[in-house]
Amino acid sequence: MAILNIRIIGDPVLRTVADPVTEFGPELAKLVADMTETMEDVEGAGLAAPQVGVSLRVFTYRIGGVEGHIVNPVLENSEDFQPDQVEGCLSIPGLGFPVRRYRHTRVTGVDLQGNPVTVEGEDMLARCFQHETDHLDGILYTDRLEGEDRKAALRAIRNANYDAITEQTTTKRAKSVGTSFGGSSFGITP
Ligand code: ZN
Repeated sequence: MAILNIRIIGDPVLRTVADPVTEFGPELAKLVADMTETMEDVEGAGLAAPQVGVSLRVFTYRIGGVEGHIVNPVLENSEDFQPDQVEGCLSIPGLGFPVRRYRHTRVTGVDLQGNPVTVEGEDMLARCFQHETDHLDGILYTDRLEGEDRKAALRAIRNANYDAITEQTTTKRAKSVGTSFGGSSFGITP
């Protein structure tokens, strides 16, 4: 297994709609293993393949002791919302803003062998599924902000020196990233 380099906002792969997985061989197994190891290394609560530069519909998650991966996820969301919570993103280091998310999410997809899987959750798990699936559609959580939060986020992203952060991230990993999705910014221990 290997720890992968996490792509930072500005990288086009984060704005690309990812392709469905069609081959369930050793390469996919290695990708999922490496993504899981990378997510654990940075103490993230979720990681989508585009965040490691792979434009495929796969994400890994790790919330409250529930860990796994979903390939080709399809979401069914409740109509109602959960209370807003601050989200961060490994691809937008150092920022966190409250985001509106659906209360309950059911994810259907397949595992790395191509077997059907269904996972459902509320609160942080539902939030994670929505955040990670957005990545597969080229959407970042900052796109979902409104009003003053949106302005503040765009300003912070414009002013950020991500080249320096990327360098730090590479050398110091989690310590310098700070705001991993679902990490300390959520006030929970994944
Ligand atoms: Zn993210």
